[in-house]
Amino acid sequence: MTGTKLKIKVFGDAVLRKKAKPVGRITDQHRLILSQMAKSMYDDSGIGLAAPQVGLSEQLIVVDIGEGLYKLINPKIIKRQGKQSISEGCLSVPGISIKVKRAKLVWLQAQDEDGRHLELEARDLFACVLQHEIDHLKGKLIVDYASFLQKLRIKRKLAKLKKLAKEAKI
Ligand code: ZN
Repeated sequence: MTGTKLKIKVFGDAVLRKKAKPVGRITDQHRLILSQMAKSMYDDSGIGLAAPQVGLSEQLIVVDIGEGLYKLINPKIIKRQGKQSISEGCLSVPGISIKVKRAKLVWLQAQDEDGRHLELEARDLFACVLQHEIDHLKGKLIVDYASFLQKLRIKRKLAKLKKLAKEAKI
């Protein structure tokens, strides 16, 4: 895995539904994948990306809402407060946006790429993206938050994505 561009997995790929494994010893391989993930995120104009989205079922995420890049390992939300509802998109579910109710303020623990433990307080969009990416580590996607009517509305689009994911495997 050198220099090659990471491929973003789309809805229908089983890796997106798997629970990602916590990272034990952090290696150069993790640091490399984190920088490749950041590159993919910027290339696709995303503001966050989780390792399962590039086919790696480990607890790694990158986030940048325009205020600097965060590379986080084993992120865990330890406290939530308030509510917000933002229309969210996802690089793994292209063409679909869903309004998701989330906490407005979150506190989380994680490790940086050198293994240092850190605590982070995040609000508004930053809090939203962190919750979205941590959802990915649990195998959860924005479509899981869709209302009954929204589910009907996006059914055909999801079927199309599923077909694409299948074809990409062949
Ligand atoms: Zn996503």
